[in-house]
Amino acid sequence: MSTVLSSVTKVFGKTTALSAVNMTIHDGEFVAIVGPSGCGKTTLLRLLAGFDSPTSGEIEMNTEVVANARRIVRPEKRNIGMVFQSFALWPHLKVKEQVLFPLQHHRYVDKELKRYSGERVIEMLKLVGLADYAERMPNELSGGQKQRVAIARALAPKPALLLMDEPLSSLDAELRMELRKEIQTIHRMMNTAIVYVTHDQAEALAMADKIVVMKDGQIEQFGSPEEVYMKPKTPFVATFVGKANLIQGKWLGDAFKPLHDEEVLWIAPDVTDEMKKHHVLPVRPEQFTISRAGNGLRGIVRNVMFQGKEFHYSVDVNGQLLNVHSDYSSKVELGDEVVLAHTSYTNERVTVEEIPSY
Ligand code: ATP
Repeated sequence: MSTVLSSVTKVFGKTTALSAVNMTIHDGEFVAIVGPSGCGKTTLLRLLAGFDSPTSGEIEMNTEVVANARRIVRPEKRNIGMVFQSFALWPHLKVKEQVLFPLQHHRYVDKELKRYSGERVIEMLKLVGLADYAERMPNELSGGQKQRVAIARALAPKPALLLMDEPLSSLDAELRMELRKEIQTIHRMMNTAIVYVTHDQAEALAMADKIVVMKDGQIEQFGSPEEVYMKPKTPFVATFVGKANLIQGKWLGDAFKPLHDEEVLWIAPDVTDEMKKHHVLPVRPEQFTISRAGNGLRGIVRNVMFQGKEFHYSVDVNGQLLNVHSDYSSKVELGDEVVLAHTSYTNERVTVEEIPSY
């Protein structure tokens, strides 16, 4: 089932929560939605779920219009599953009954699945590693186990689309890593399309096929994790996903001259016009090499943080503080005068006369 949003706008009083959003979620695709608080992530998910209808625009599922300003298909009539941040298990039902419930009551469950619902419950509990917990009540489970039950319950009726709103945010870091892997494995096995809202961009980069970066109710970029990370379209995407440095400077075609070091000229193809319009070049902290000599931007180390496998430096380049990540082999010290070379561009220093006029 593919899901298509066309010019979807949602207005609450004076707030435009979503503004003309266009997006297609293909069959079996894992789409993560990231963005700062209040950018419209939950609103988008609620519209997909059928809890709310758009002010204008429309949503199609499987070529049927399920929501526009005049009509809305209710959540139970859409072939979707949901997993939210709070585990939301029914307190009076055993684990096996939680998973059985949608198989008995979901409108879309096919007859065969209904007939073998007992087997399906066991299959789903095995999938999430809870086969031995079928008889337990929710209050006898840990947070991670409750969330696994919620996932098994949502997937049991074989929904075409699974909506997940911050499903791991109430779990500790280790459990989150473990469940990330499980959700990826489950996604591969079930081939259900997933729309996954998260605050955690590392989670989005690690798990999704596509990432939607939102800001102020609009989509800033929609692309694969690699595209969004390596070729951010806007300064916002570059800093929000992966914390790039935005080097200020002047552009002439593909040539970039950093404002804070007049003698560096980088030829940087593949940078978007939006970046050029804002007079910046995005550079990831790991795209710099740091050393005490050589060619590149000259600066002074203002802060050093040991992070286990690498060091994080703050380097002052004539007033602009840049973040640089580097491993132990190129260790420098606080207060050192250093050179930051870009790993992809030629870092030859040029005299001012050699630089084309801007
Ligand atoms: P967070 O990450 O904090 O959960 P979000 O990206 O999910 O944020 P939304 O909950 O979608 O953001 O909210 C988008 C905007 O719409 C916000 O400005 C919010 O205050 C507003 N909003 C959401 N629901 C309502 C509502 N029912 N009534 C009025 N305003 C609303």
